[in-house]
Amino acid sequence: MAQDFVNEPNGQAAIVAHADVVVVGGGPAGTAAAIAAARHGAKVSLIERYPYLGGLASGGMVLVLDDMTNGDEISVKGLCQEFIDRMAARGLAVFPPEQDRRASWELWRRWSRWGVHNFHAHSKPQPITYAAAFDPDGWKRVSCDMIAEHKIDLRMHSWFSRALIEDGRIKGVVCETKAGRQAIMGDIVIDATGDLDVAAAAGAPFVHGSYILTTVFRLGGVHTDAAERFQYGEPEKFQAIDRQAKRIIGGSWDMWWLKTPLPGVVWCNCPHMPGFDGVKVEDLTRAEFEGRRRIYALLDYLRSAPMPGFEKCFVVDVAPQTGVRQTRLLDGEYVVTKEDVTDRVHFFDSVARGRDYYTPYRSLLPRNVDQLLVAGRHYAATPAAQKISREIPPCMAMGEAAGIAATMALNAGTTVRRVDVKSLQAKIRAHGGDPGDQPAPNAKLAQAAE
Ligand SMILES: Cc1cc2nc3c(=O)[nH]c(=O)nc-3n(C[C@H](O)[C@H](O)[C@H](O)COP(=O)(O)OP(=O)(O)OC[C@H]3O[C@@H](n4cnc5c(N)ncnc54)[C@H](O)[C@@H]3O)c2cc1C
Repeated sequence: MAQDFVNEPNGQAAIVAHADVVVVGGGPAGTAAAIAAARHGAKVSLIERYPYLGGLASGGMVLVLDDMTNGDEISVKGLCQEFIDRMAARGLAVFPPEQDRRASWELWRRWSRWGVHNFHAHSKPQPITYAAAFDPDGWKRVSCDMIAEHKIDLRMHSWFSRALIEDGRIKGVVCETKAGRQAIMGDIVIDATGDLDVAAAAGAPFVHGSYILTTVFRLGGVHTDAAERFQYGEPEKFQAIDRQAKRIIGGSWDMWWLKTPLPGVVWCNCPHMPGFDGVKVEDLTRAEFEGRRRIYALLDYLRSAPMPGFEKCFVVDVAPQTGVRQTRLLDGEYVVTKEDVTDRVHFFDSVARGRDYYTPYRSLLPRNVDQLLVAGRHYAATPAAQKISREIPPCMAMGEAAGIAATMALNAGTTVRRVDVKSLQAKIRAHGGDPGDQPAPNAKLAQAAE
């Protein structure tokens, strides 16, 4: 009979599941990885510390899917598009129709408060592009539906704590749970924790990056039509109040509030706060207090100013998950640089796209540890490159690629390092994704690597 526990430094952990593929982290990358692996025939366990799926896309209340177009071309497809379709069918995702995806002041007024314009364009007005504003609970619901449809063994309320390594190969993971320590064994593990928890614990090399932290929140009771009438009807008065609002929140993008699919509810991607480490308990705790202080100071101001449309607003919620963008980053088989991203360098082993850039399979592969893949915002990139290549759609594309690669390795009886990349690209494409195997006309070919 197989052993039903693993020995731990101080006691034992019960083995509660055996899977072909264990995915740790149920954010956009991990959920996509789990679904993709299950679709390709693997028995999958998905581990998540919180009682919902979505990571920053739901618990972090990051509510616009962007960075998915290269000019007029939609560059991120596959599971990301499936999520958008499923949410839109329930009225929980909003995106501009094709005829509105261009630059004009009229379209700017119609769409910019949805956050669906091209932030990278230097022209004014910035063109409206294909991007989707969505509802966080809509994301959770679609994730649950798809996990159930694919018969994935979802294990929530489970905090990954230790990687089980034998002869340089990962064999499973240990989680802390209310029921004690539990081990989940797997042939292949995909780290989708966003903070590289598994790969770092397994001994894979990494670098420690950092970026601003944000305690995202939503306001309700907002009359968005009145607010927009004020913005365009009385621009000088609007700017004075808006400028002061931004001063109080102390760190925001130009538009500190955006519309959501829920009437009267706006998304506030602020306050941004530098100088915190997203894996340090003390910093995360301080950030929570500082963020809330600023949010309530803003609320008082908006009501007293008064800002038309916001006179009766109230805080609906502050995101349960702190907005951590960057912490540990894999030092993998290939580390993507800022120039790779900005120069749109195409790689022979591209398996995912984001905006106009390409992600090589090697950047999902840790050095030193076998049968482990990573996917999502902690992929192998320099801190400067990650800042401009970590949006939700490309993270999902990475997850999809990692999930398919894992099943290919299992079926071929090989390791994830030896997966045939051409076949992987073909499989991603056959299932509706765009691995970036066919460089767009504006790509720069990495001759040395091709
Ligand atoms: C404030 C903010 C604004 C942003 N704005 C945008 C935007 O407008 N559009 C956009 O597309 N992107 C945006 N991003 C970026 C985007 O949200 C992230 O890069 C993306 O969600 C990363 O996905 P992921 O799956 O790699 O990681 P995450 O979303 O972080 O998911 C990681 C998952 O792993 C789980 N997990 C972590 N550690 C453990 C553990 N030890 N045990 C078990 N489970 C664990 C987490 O709970 C979570 O579910 C923003 C990010 C932030 C913070």
